[in-house]
Amino acid sequence: MRALDPPMALLAEVTHRCPLQCPYCSNPVELDRVAGELDTDSWCRVLDEAAALGVLQVHFSGGEPLVRRDLETLVGHAARAGLYTNLIPSAVLLDQRRLDALATASRRLRSATKRT
Ligand code: SF4
Repeated sequence: MRALDPPMALLAEVTHRCPLQCPYCSNPVELDRVAGELDTDSWCRVLDEAAALGVLQVHFSGGEPLVRRDLETLVGHAARAGLYTNLIPSAVLLDQRRLDALATASRRLRSATKRT
């Protein structure tokens, strides 16, 4: 029996919270509250496991991923694990400070890639 190839990407729905209420939203009707979300350490473990499995990229989504105060930490952790990262936000919560922090976190990927 032929082994399955690893998935190329991980869709990380880091939260179901969102400040918007788009009529076409595919978020679950029964939204997980913040207490039901994976914490930072658990997401970091998931990202490490995904990288070890052969996943190449991670899409941070939700809900609105920017409601997570640890999003920059998760992006940086993914980058250090060698994962290409992208963000799927509505961006209504994006300000210059967070944009700079996310850019800094994602640059770690380029630095890590150049070392390998
Ligand atoms: S921005 Fe996205 S997650 Fe938020 S309500 Fe609209 S479709 Fe749903």
